[in-house]
Amino acid sequence: MTAVRVPGTPTIEDGRLVSTSPATGAEAGRFPAASPADVERAVARARDAAGWWAGLGFDGRRERLLRWRRLLARRIEELAELVHLEGGKPVADAIVEVATAVEHVDWAARNARRVLGPRRVRSRLVLAEFSAHLEYQPFGVVGVIGPWNYPVFTPIGSVAYALAAGNTVVLKPSEYTPAVGQWLVDTFAEVVGEQPVFTAVHGLGDVGAALCHSGVNKIAFTGSTATAKKVMAACAESLTPVLLEAGGKDAMIVDSDADLDAAADACVWGALTNAGQTCIGIERVYAVEPVFDAFVGKVVERAGRLTVGADGADIGPITMPSQLDVIRRHIDDALARGGRAVLGGADAVQPPYVRPTVLVDVPEDASAVREETFGPTVTINRVRDADEAVDRANAVPYGLGGSVFGRRRAVAVARRLRSGMASVNSALTFAGMSTLPFGGVGDSGFGRIHGEDGLREFARPKAITRRRARSLLPAMTFDRTPADVDRLVKAIKMMYGR
Ligand code: NDP
Repeated sequence: MTAVRVPGTPTIEDGRLVSTSPATGAEAGRFPAASPADVERAVARARDAAGWWAGLGFDGRRERLLRWRRLLARRIEELAELVHLEGGKPVADAIVEVATAVEHVDWAARNARRVLGPRRVRSRLVLAEFSAHLEYQPFGVVGVIGPWNYPVFTPIGSVAYALAAGNTVVLKPSEYTPAVGQWLVDTFAEVVGEQPVFTAVHGLGDVGAALCHSGVNKIAFTGSTATAKKVMAACAESLTPVLLEAGGKDAMIVDSDADLDAAADACVWGALTNAGQTCIGIERVYAVEPVFDAFVGKVVERAGRLTVGADGADIGPITMPSQLDVIRRHIDDALARGGRAVLGGADAVQPPYVRPTVLVDVPEDASAVREETFGPTVTINRVRDADEAVDRANAVPYGLGGSVFGRRRAVAVARRLRSGMASVNSALTFAGMSTLPFGGVGDSGFGRIHGEDGLREFARPKAITRRRARSLLPAMTFDRTPADVDRLVKAIKMMYGR
């Protein structure tokens, strides 16, 4: 069957998933669409490879992952061009994305042994006759389901950490970015050719659903909250553990002592990079009354300078054509409820592009303030003080990241944001900090990628106690005597009863 092609909308043609540029309609690649049986075969192959990969140990995996990191770094332009072709992202943004991913591969490879490797932990007096040992063992096969907006950075946030922990991985890339997913798999196979350690299955949402039912030992999902719920429900049937990195509606708070130029720069970047199609993108700003007008002026001046278009522009096309309707609806709703467009506005949506749009004084119940817009738009509302800003920022079900600009109170305000992450006097920077965990609360999901928590997410703790002496207070045996129990009572009162 041959479907009618809309640029950027993937189609299945003769059993193949065809991916095209949202800007030009140029074909980015075609890949066999997997059936449920294909997914099961891929998982079975990954399971066969899992013993070999785990058996390489931390050092063997580190050496191979660092080889992949070298390849990714050396071919950064090639991968960025493919990201640009398939998703429409400006090449410079794609370079930043790949650079961040490379850093995560490096960190995960270098730190897996330290974080997950076998170690002694301290015994407590109450069981002093035993030594305690802890290690983190791989799950086996991890299924990674990825979105299209950061098709390198997002899957690698799970893939690199899962591989470093000793798992093999089956990736289901978004149907909008299969070529990028396949590129990652192919280049990994160039440096680890012995076994199918990291493979991909392609297709539409049903392939992701099949992966959830395939018997993988863990699913790492990144995508919308609605799909996250389906994934969790599917995984519940087999008690397959899940990591859910879902959507966001991140807020920036601009306090009275903020550097307004720096805040405006970070706001424009945080809201408009990748045409606003960023899970941790700044979608709402709360600026305190005394600096509101000056801040808005600086944002409009900066955002108004940005270029929109296919090649070499600051802002590329909207990757998923259906998202254009959502963005238009949010702008229209904000204006209908009394908000004002100080840049862009009602006619900003010009498929496949959206011109930068800055909306002010938008009621808090407008969809532009409450729902994920995923476009180059931002609302800026005035607040009395930072306390009111925190209350409003926290009043949505999402809780992914956030940003605070200010001096005296900024870190304290960042702590109070109901979110998994925050940047003070910058935006989005936590995503590139490989030593820090990445993930959200509430509708933004749970579990963590990146950092030590990100490594532990892909391993199960294994706890071992080992007897090293006879028990002075034998309690866990039927050979204990009433005198032993009396001594235990005395000891507990002495140790804990004071
Ligand atoms: P979707 O939820 O539409 O899709 C995510 C992935 O899930 C895709 O690979 C999709 O396949 C697959 N999928 C679809 N249906 C099912 C199903 N029933 N079972 C299993 N898998 C399924 O999200 P988008 O791709 O549109 O990504 C954008 C969203 O991702 C935004 O909400 C964004 O905020 C969020 N995101 C979150 C991040 C985070 O770290 N928290 C990072 C980046 C994005 P297919 O594409 O073929 O439909």
